[in-house]
Amino acid sequence: MTMTQSDRRYHITTFGCQMNKADSERMAGILEEMGFNWSEDPNEADLILYNTCTIRDNAEQKVYSYLGRQAKRKQEHPELTLIVAGCVAQQEGEKLLRRVPELDLVMGPQHANRLEDLLQQVFDGNQVVATEPVHIIEDITKPRRESKVTAWVNVIYGCNERCTYCVVPSVRGVEQSRNREAIRAEMEELGRLGYKEITLLGQNIDAYGRDLPGVTATGRHLHTLTDLLYYVHDVSGVERLRFATSHPRYFTERLIKACYELPKVCEHFHIPFQSGDNELLKAMKRGYTHERYRQIIEKIREYMPDASISADAIVGFPGETEAQFENTLKLVDDIGFDQLNTAAYSPRPGTPAAIWDNQLSEEVKSDRLQRLNHLVSQKAADRSGRYLGRIEEVLVEDVNPKDPTQVMGRTRGNRLTFFKGNIEQLKGQLIKVKVTEVRAFSLTGVPIEKTELVPLF
Ligand code: SF4
Repeated sequence: MTMTQSDRRYHITTFGCQMNKADSERMAGILEEMGFNWSEDPNEADLILYNTCTIRDNAEQKVYSYLGRQAKRKQEHPELTLIVAGCVAQQEGEKLLRRVPELDLVMGPQHANRLEDLLQQVFDGNQVVATEPVHIIEDITKPRRESKVTAWVNVIYGCNERCTYCVVPSVRGVEQSRNREAIRAEMEELGRLGYKEITLLGQNIDAYGRDLPGVTATGRHLHTLTDLLYYVHDVSGVERLRFATSHPRYFTERLIKACYELPKVCEHFHIPFQSGDNELLKAMKRGYTHERYRQIIEKIREYMPDASISADAIVGFPGETEAQFENTLKLVDDIGFDQLNTAAYSPRPGTPAAIWDNQLSEEVKSDRLQRLNHLVSQKAADRSGRYLGRIEEVLVEDVNPKDPTQVMGRTRGNRLTFFKGNIEQLKGQLIKVKVTEVRAFSLTGVPIEKTELVPLF
């Protein structure tokens, strides 16, 4: 079997977070460089890759059911190549091969850039498991990106924190920052290709640069996220910058000031708080208090009163009392998030909290989740209200899947916005839109002018 046959087709199914999506785009880029073509239908593909996630139980179950179907197909089509990548691969390793012997390759997230080497071993007739920690080699591959307008750029891999509910440190390894020249070069290439918005990505992006050499006279690391923003903000063609995910423990006023000063950095902050109760934050080993979290938001609002704030929160963590849960409700009520990703705690194998004996019942967890979600929608609707009648800049990304006469995009504050228009003409453009309708998590408006004319896609 040769690896450059152009009639070979691949399909990737991605579960989970933005890091996984970015990894999938890179692996798709590698496969295309190798001569594979995308197949929309997995059943037509010669190579299937599941990029997996362990955070939610149902994602993990889905992987097994998809995999089971393809393993059956492989019994009739032995030339089919089956790959499991991502967090389930990292966590289960060899065990996956025992459970699904039809698998050809099991690879952890740190190995994404090595896909071609690993596949070479598979095509040489081996069953391969690649889950050992590696030093991530600088990424010279070209990702196949889903969007032509917005892109993610990894700036740091891994996480050195030890939050007691989280599998990331054990599956993604220790923090490894990319050097700023490589990040800028990737962004310049994206700018040349016509991308308008870039989100810098890391599981704990505030840790960026801690592992890179160099400190200032006062002992501060030379290459922090703040320094990186100043270093990359003028990349030509790129109009908007975002970054995620922030950790309250490391969020600095210097960073807030940079976001205020740099016009391309959007006034949108995603800072997970997880719980509004100090005892629980301690049990989660998050390393901050709700008071500290509130101070950060206050500081952001001092500099940028209109900034939008989003976060992640967990309810039903082991031992959470009703009063402790109410502290989370109180924080949500006081802050007024523009958006909040909520989840009922679900024990992940290999994490400390999974084996504690003070787990809560599913009823309690789902009741709390519902109550929190109810409050979140109310608060998000309040926050949306401020947009009514305002003129917002929207970066047009796509057609509204529910109404083909409308296009959709995001405001700088990350609100999804719809308005009438032709996607062929508007894709990738920044359009001023007057907001005429507001809902909790989206807006509708009318375009008032084009802020610029750019080549259409
Ligand atoms: S900081 Fe985020 S990625 Fe790191 S251990 Fe905590 S929850 Fe997981």
